[in-house]
Amino acid sequence: MHVRTLTGGLVAACLVTLSLTGGQAVAAAPQTADAPLAARVLTYDAAGSAEFRSAVDRGAAIWNESVDAVELRPAAAGQRANIRVLADNGWPRALPTTLGNGTVYIGRQAVDQGYNTIRISAHEIGHILGLPDRKPGPCSSLMSGSTAGIACTNPYPNTAEKAEVEGNFGGALAGPAPAVRAGVIVD
Ligand SMILES: [Zn+2]
Repeated sequence: MHVRTLTGGLVAACLVTLSLTGGQAVAAAPQTADAPLAARVLTYDAAGSAEFRSAVDRGAAIWNESVDAVELRPAAAGQRANIRVLADNGWPRALPTTLGNGTVYIGRQAVDQGYNTIRISAHEIGHILGLPDRKPGPCSSLMSGSTAGIACTNPYPNTAEKAEVEGNFGGALAGPAPAVRAGVIVD
């Protein structure tokens, strides 16, 4: 998805609002005739994700492949990212603050048990994108998380999960923006 120079007061106004409410830099692509859905760009910083960095990049890329309404990009050096991704020895978890903002932990406890690192990454990013856990659930569901078992390596959101994120970020079928529950979402 191309991002062009910002034009138009509306987009600029939205940016200001998002920046104020999120407290973090947010960029957006303006709407164009051939791209009716303007992706909201969210930056992520995986510098603290240690051995999971490539899995985190892949998880972000999967979301970029899966939805139009949001685009995840690596943060530039020194830039404050919307999403921080860290590795630690606990269970994987997400700490959303506002929609599209928060911190993700790729916990080694689950990795050591055999859970797939790309599925974990995409799942936790899914929480930052406003998705709740859907447990128990099948492997076809990204948000079924660990309940799908360690044999499940599917890192892709299903149709409903994709539609929910499109809606959360103002897609064509968007309803009211969801209230994001700030706090810890474990797994
Ligand atoms: Zn979860």
